[in-house]
Amino acid sequence: MQGGLDLRDFQGLIERMYSHKDRQRGPAGTFMWLMEEVGELAAAIAEGQDRSAKAAEFADVLAWLATLANVEGIDLSDAVHAKYGTGCPGCGLMVCTCSAKP
Ligand SMILES: [Mg+2]
Ligand SMILES: [Zn+2]
Repeated sequence: MQGGLDLRDFQGLIERMYSHKDRQRGPAGTFMWLMEEVGELAAAIAEGQDRSAKAAEFADVLAWLATLANVEGIDLSDAVHAKYGTGCPGCGLMVCTCSAKP
C-alpha cells in the first residue's frame, strides 16, 4: 500500500477486499472483531511492542472500523468532516478550549 491513501480511498479499498464476507457476518459480529483488534492494540502498547508492531495494530483497528462503517452504510470521510471538519464539536474552535473531550 502506498502512502497518502486518504480515508475515503481506504474505506473503498476495504469495501472491495472484504464486503462479500462482511455483509454476511453483519454488524454484531463485525463489532466483535473490531473489539478484538482494539484489544490487540491495547496489548501492543501495554507490552511495549516495537513501533512497527504497534503501527500494524493501529492499521487493523482502522480497517475493522472501516469494515463496520461499510456494513452500516456510513461514509467515514463524510462523518468525520461533518463532526470535526469545521472545529471542535464542543466549543467550535479549531484548537479546542473545552475542559473535556466531547
Ligand atoms: Mg491485530
Ligand atoms: Zn472544544
